[in-house]
Amino acid sequence: MQITNIQSKIYEPESIVNFKVALIERVIPQNVIIKITTDEGIIGYGEAAPFLPVTGSDAQETQHFIQKIATLLIGKDPFYLENIHNLMNQVVVGQNAAKAGIDMALYDIIGKSSGQPLYKLLGGNSNQIETDMTLGIDTPENMAKKAVEYTEMGFRILKVKTGINSIEDIHAIKLIREAVGPDIELRLDANQGWDAKETIRTMKALEKYNVLEVEQPVPYWNLAACCQIRESISQHLMLDESVHSPQDALRAIQTEAADMINIKLMKCGGIYQGIKINAISEVAGIPCMVGCMSESRLGIAAGAALVGAKSNIRASDLDSHYLIAESPHITGGFVQDGGLITIVDKPGLGVEVNFDAL
Ligand SMILES: [Mg+2]
Repeated sequence: MQITNIQSKIYEPESIVNFKVALIERVIPQNVIIKITTDEGIIGYGEAAPFLPVTGSDAQETQHFIQKIATLLIGKDPFYLENIHNLMNQVVVGQNAAKAGIDMALYDIIGKSSGQPLYKLLGGNSNQIETDMTLGIDTPENMAKKAVEYTEMGFRILKVKTGINSIEDIHAIKLIREAVGPDIELRLDANQGWDAKETIRTMKALEKYNVLEVEQPVPYWNLAACCQIRESISQHLMLDESVHSPQDALRAIQTEAADMINIKLMKCGGIYQGIKINAISEVAGIPCMVGCMSESRLGIAAGAALVGAKSNIRASDLDSHYLIAESPHITGGFVQDGGLITIVDKPGLGVEVNFDAL
């Protein structure tokens, strides 16, 4: 089989939730949808969801790189993942969202060609996974109201964005816990907004509200602070922005800076590299989560396939399709009931994309 064409299109889903995190005032998604055609008539779809403060690229740059790499991939066998990833890495350092989008489309082709859903091809652990739902930063009262709304929709795990003002963060968590009751699992994500002392102080104050973990409390480069925090708090510490590559994961593990690692396809350059991060973590006894940027159902289906493949990926934060207005031209992949995602039993990603209508 040979790749005969690679097309890409910038896709701007309308955001329906005003989403604020410690890194940036408002997240406005602009993604790139990729269509790879082969000489056997099999078509694969992928999605790049770059996010400037984390991936260092925007949609325009991402599309530019996809077009650049496309000329080099024509004639290649889509099963040559190792070869293609090496080639992409030789051509450009970084641009991992673009690489992830291409990687995703290639895996879609591999699944369709094999007649198997991707989660089975990648390992086959379960076709059912449970995602959390994320609350953006707002007034503590509004956050508590939103939390109730999400639990009424059936979500049992909430991830709460924090990191701008720890006094307000503590108040928000108090109101959320009181509003949703004791059985809902709460995770925090500070998106690098605190330092070690503020994290330790805040997490100690939050002990009575039964928060399971804190994600990326300090700047991505400060693994030493993460070690200090881990020694001082009772909750788990998950790394997100600190871990882009398998090498980052190894460094975090060697320095004992993490209890968990958040794999995002857009940070690491796709499923191929995400599998390596999970493998390194698993042998070190560190569970992983798969998170997302602002992917539509297409990119979320790819993340879900990775979670459904690997038992060491114990958590998922695959909720961005809830924060945007879903397109009638991107459908399938999975069915969802509250936080419970059931992956469809269709070859590849199982997502139907009407590329021309996007
Ligand atoms: Mg995060």
